[in-house]
Amino acid sequence: MPKLLSLALDILMLLYADDIVLLSRSAVSLRAKLKILEDYCTLNDLTVNTEKTKVMPCRSSGRVKKGDKDFIYKGSSLEIVKPYTYLGVPFNISAHGGSPITSAIRKGKQASGTGLNSCYMEKLEIAHLYFYKHLLNIPACTPNYVLRLELNLSHISLEIFKAAFSWVIKILDMNQDSLPKICFIRLIALSKVGPDKPNWIHHLKKILQTIDEVNILDTLSLNHWKLNKEKIINKYQEFLRNLDLERYTHSSACQIILYRNPSDGLPSYLQFCSQRLIVPMIQLRLANLFTCNISVDKSVIKLQPKQTCRYCHNNEAETVKHFLLDCPFFYIPRLSHLQLAEELGPRMNLALILDHQSPTNLKSLHHFLRDSVKLINQDV
Ligand SMILES: [Zn+2]
Repeated sequence: MPKLLSLALDILMLLYADDIVLLSRSAVSLRAKLKILEDYCTLNDLTVNTEKTKVMPCRSSGRVKKGDKDFIYKGSSLEIVKPYTYLGVPFNISAHGGSPITSAIRKGKQASGTGLNSCYMEKLEIAHLYFYKHLLNIPACTPNYVLRLELNLSHISLEIFKAAFSWVIKILDMNQDSLPKICFIRLIALSKVGPDKPNWIHHLKKILQTIDEVNILDTLSLNHWKLNKEKIINKYQEFLRNLDLERYTHSSACQIILYRNPSDGLPSYLQFCSQRLIVPMIQLRLANLFTCNISVDKSVIKLQPKQTCRYCHNNEAETVKHFLLDCPFFYIPRLSHLQLAEELGPRMNLALILDHQSPTNLKSLHHFLRDSVKLINQDV
């Protein structure tokens, strides 16, 4: 926002449907704006509901100053509030942004606790991974499986499955006449009849079936569930990881398929290098067939693999491979920083650049990208 605004330009108000937010830097200015609003509404025969109109002073100290009081609209005194929820987002007097974040986290936790239904789990997964895509400036169309593999992230369904498993153990530890236990036994019986009615046991059963462990539902012994918890959760984790690996190996959306081992943890470069070096490496390793952003310091190189290269005009697709290995436009930076590529010539492949994760290699790549940006800017 500060980049968009200057001293000569400011946001006076926010309008959404029939809601207005007046923004002011001082109490005096707000009173003047309220008077203008009053005149405008009188002229246009509009009414403001003063019962619903609130004034929220914003101060980093979190305290309301004496002068931040007595705001009048058409003779009615407006209520001063410290927290206020606007369009579902809570704000508070300190305006540090803690309230919206806490609220978003709480809603996320509530959502992840709503059930095991696979279509809702996919929606949660999209929201979960969107955070990483946004943070790393990775296109939204990047497949989720490759992002999970690269960052060694669990699928959200694993977290929900763990919570459901622990909840079953808790229920089994309850007395026979406790309401959760009565409901649980009834839900198990209903799940055998059919999946027509909403029933979380049915979704738990589906997960257990995928890993061939559905028989555990026939044994409602606390000890049996406790003893098998770790084994079954690990089995589901492995199942999900293998599923991601399978989809990645046969991906029709990723530009580059690197060799990945089922037991691979977090790639080493993510553990030892600075964010400045990490981000472009991730963006290149996860490049998809539609678009690719490469963040280099404060610039971004955008590659459009579906189009022909706009730098060399050689009728070659603008892929990561063409950019890193072949494009003559980037010959000089390649020669200076990716000598490996030049020495190996046709034997060179992307894995040697993108899977060689030493800090030295990442620095060389960064220097190549930095000089490539300079070339692009000179050419504009
Ligand atoms: Zn080119």
